[in-house]
Amino acid sequence: MISMTGVNKHYGDLHVLKDIELEIPTGQVVVMLGPSGSGKSTLCRTINRLEPIDRGAITIDGVPVPAEGRALARLRSDVGMVFQSFNLFSHKTVLENVMLAPMKVRGIDKVKAKERAHALLERVGIDSQADKYPAQLSGGQQQRVAIARSLAMDPKVMLFDEPTSALDPEMVNEVLDVMVNLAKEGMTMIVVTHEMGFARKAADRIIFMADGSIIEDTDPDTFFTAPESDRAKDFLGKIL
Ligand code: ADP
Ligand code: MG
Repeated sequence: MISMTGVNKHYGDLHVLKDIELEIPTGQVVVMLGPSGSGKSTLCRTINRLEPIDRGAITIDGVPVPAEGRALARLRSDVGMVFQSFNLFSHKTVLENVMLAPMKVRGIDKVKAKERAHALLERVGIDSQADKYPAQLSGGQQQRVAIARSLAMDPKVMLFDEPTSALDPEMVNEVLDVMVNLAKEGMTMIVVTHEMGFARKAADRIIFMADGSIIEDTDPDTFFTAPESDRAKDFLGKIL
């Protein structure tokens, strides 16, 4: 589903992505771990070209990520992204937040968009809040709306960049539960997170990054019980 070959990126003198090689098949759930500043967010952002790359190639479902224009817009709608900050439209209701993109980008009519939005809100357990405004919801609820909003575009892939890092601890699980369900339903996912419980439970594969390189690429069991590199051992020693 996602293929990265020889991907390199610099910010000025800083070499943030170094010869990244990554093939992610359809339905795989990849958890990306690594110390702060290792390039995890940048890697995610190159996939929908929120960050252009200097060298290498990225394809999604066999199609090279376009540089610009309508082709890029189309590709972006295939790649859902959920960040630490929820970024909901504050002057729109929860329901409107979920209805908007399918109507604007996909030209879906209002009645269908509404029906669909309710179904998605139901799926993330929050349809009872459909007519509220984002500020009236808790952080965990807002993040679930953000996930529903991404799903409304029928993405082929979902990227999650530390989706629970800004949440109060008691709200983390309600968001992770939605993600676990998505994973079970077969969504192709890349998840950057510090939630090791989620990684153990939901990941098919762990990618460990340090200094812009993929240092380990293995299954969760192997990663957590027998990491190979000193960097990974050091990382696990600090967080577990
Ligand atoms: P991570 O998500 O693993 O914490 P990032 O991908 O955010 O790492 O950042 C990787 C490195 O790139 C860091 O050293 C960070 O400071 C730097 N960086 C990230 N974004 C920018 C930017 N827009 N301009 C310059 N440097 C950046
Ligand atoms: Mg990051």
